[in-house]
Amino acid sequence: MRVTMVKKLLADGSACRKCAQAEDLLQRRGVYDRLDEVVIAQEGDPESPGMKLAREHEVDLAPFWIVEDGDGPPRIYTSAIQVFRDVLAIPRGAPPGPDSDDLDFDAARQKLAGMTPIEIVQWTLERFGSDCAIAFSGAEDVALLDMAIETGLPFSTFVLDTGRLHTETYEFVDQVRRHYNITIDVLSPDAASLEALVRAKGLFSFYEDGHQECCGIRKVETLTRALRHRPAWMTGQRRDQSPTRADVPILQTDPRFSGPDRTLVKVNPLAEWSEAEVWAWIRDRGVPFNPLHERGYASIGCAPCTRPTHPGQHPREGRWWWEDATKRECGLHLAGTATNRRRR
Ligand code: SF4
Repeated sequence: MRVTMVKKLLADGSACRKCAQAEDLLQRRGVYDRLDEVVIAQEGDPESPGMKLAREHEVDLAPFWIVEDGDGPPRIYTSAIQVFRDVLAIPRGAPPGPDSDDLDFDAARQKLAGMTPIEIVQWTLERFGSDCAIAFSGAEDVALLDMAIETGLPFSTFVLDTGRLHTETYEFVDQVRRHYNITIDVLSPDAASLEALVRAKGLFSFYEDGHQECCGIRKVETLTRALRHRPAWMTGQRRDQSPTRADVPILQTDPRFSGPDRTLVKVNPLAEWSEAEVWAWIRDRGVPFNPLHERGYASIGCAPCTRPTHPGQHPREGRWWWEDATKRECGLHLAGTATNRRRR
């Protein structure tokens, strides 16, 4: 593999600010030396080597990176974070990590004991690689996404688009996509199942016979598809979120979404964090957040099933408020086994 970085020099000879920031990022992450070549695109000189490469690859942004694998056309990156995650952070010739069935839960328990959330995220991504998915709900679990970005390791992330999210949540998901320059898979429910439900029961049946059926189609079935071939996933679940999550472990198997020939591992790096700790991370690092949080929405789900809470109310009281508190789960998170509780 050959990686070429093209950076711009301004007409007055000074460095382009964005290019300098990108170089600084790669140097801080310790991968700058992995670039095979750095080529200059001189502003105002269309014949400079970098300008020629820009024309050849039809790129009108600087900096950019050309990654040549030998097979197929070169890949072009215009984001330092993206080229770092997808190319430079992966050791050349590194063997793929073991799959989930090889995981020794006792050894993992020893390793995870005492780790901080970002260390748990790092361990998980090192162990399971880019096939490990992060479930991003468009709420404060964006902190988990930020930690994954900070590790610099490749990962996948998805949002379950139920079709009933707030407009603010859709805008926020797109804001996060642009902020980190990452791909977020926005997954839709099965159209035929959804149409059958709505035809039979209308658009608000959950107020009459409970949320399980609607959540089953709009969330659980979609998640089943999303996790079908994955070894592991990470969630932003915390113990302080609800009575149903009081025992959430850091590490568990996920029998609900495991297959007959595969054990799915579920990691909850924020399990022991409080809401305040999550928000301290968000504020300290300038992480974008859903504006609904500033309008009293402590826990954010679908628009018809979420309402603001008052100070002093438990955040989960704003979700499915017409139902018993012990039933306020959408079916995505059921108890697993082989748990790990971190000692304080
Ligand atoms: S939260 Fe409400 S609207 Fe969303 S999938 Fe569940 S029942 Fe349906």
